Amino acid sequence: MNVDHYVEGVLAGDRVTIGRAITLVESRRDDHQRLAAEMVGRLLPAAGGAHRIGITGVPGAGKSTFIEAVGMRLVDEGRRVAVLAVDPTSSRTGGSILGDKTRMTRLAASEHAFIRPSPSGGRLGGVTGATRETIVVLEAAGYDVVFVETVGVGQSETAVAAMVDTFVLLMLARSGDSLQGLKKGVLELADVIAVNKADGDRAAEAAGAAAELAAALHLVAGSPDGWSVPVLTCSGLTGTGLDAVWGAVEAHRRHLDGGGLDSRRKRQDVEWMWATIDDRLLARFRGDPAVRAEVVTIEAAVGAGTITPAAGARRLLDLAE
Ligand code: GDP
Repeated sequence: MNVDHYVEGVLAGDRVTIGRAITLVESRRDDHQRLAAEMVGRLLPAAGGAHRIGITGVPGAGKSTFIEAVGMRLVDEGRRVAVLAVDPTSSRTGGSILGDKTRMTRLAASEHAFIRPSPSGGRLGGVTGATRETIVVLEAAGYDVVFVETVGVGQSETAVAAMVDTFVLLMLARSGDSLQGLKKGVLELADVIAVNKADGDRAAEAAGAAAELAAALHLVAGSPDGWSVPVLTCSGLTGTGLDAVWGAVEAHRRHLDGGGLDSRRKRQDVEWMWATIDDRLLARFRGDPAVRAEVVTIEAAVGAGTITPAAGARRLLDLAE
């Protein structure tokens, strides 16, 4: 397939071509990357129209259940919904938190939804670069709500926050420990926070946790752009509170439409450029024959303490120059 075929198929909304186009942007092969870059460049003018929404939370917080419930409502309203995942574990160990289970089966069956599991292999930089390009493909294909799901336990949530308009944090109420292993920085990335699984016996506990969190957030300085982060409760399982959470997500987007969206996305594009440079430079460095010949020896020397980490880094960097 040449670039014309990809571009025409994607613009026509052809699902098979969309799938192939995403496979192309995920490929690590040099010739594929060149082809992908040209394709993405040609699709860009047709992209940008979606509301890009990040969803994060610890494993088991109910992210897939939530996205499926909200996604089905949107599809019923006539919107076209795409779901992507950035899964830090799949890039590090080959295992996967987000991708292994059968997820969002109702949404997956809808012809108005497109669900793509996280790209496997590669480092986070490469994976998130592919995810940004995938967003362009899906927007050009006419999807108008794009969810990017990730696990709020590593670095991937920072990367995802840097590619979406609205970042939603799903939390669980657990008395005395409402941060449950979430890195503290994740709270600062959130535009909307929802304490999930607010159903049955847990409803009261969830409301308490939300009130506590809202009070704690007010002690932290409000966001510089004048948006104050709402803390709500919901249940992806029963649907309780989902309207309010979705209402807050749309309110945040309207807030951005009042002036911040353009600058947020421009800033993100510059970050995207640098992230791509970081990724390619590192790949080139690690692939350098002189570096590859010495890396095991130098790693061992650093590990044994015979040279310092700084000296080891210096030697490897010098080899590549
Ligand atoms: P994820 O790992 O964050 O994607 O979480 P899942 O959506 O897979 O949900 C993890 C478990 O929690 C599953 O057994 C769900 O059925 C359950 N679950 C998800 N949402 C809710 C909810 O709103 N209320 C309750 N009670 N259980 C839920």
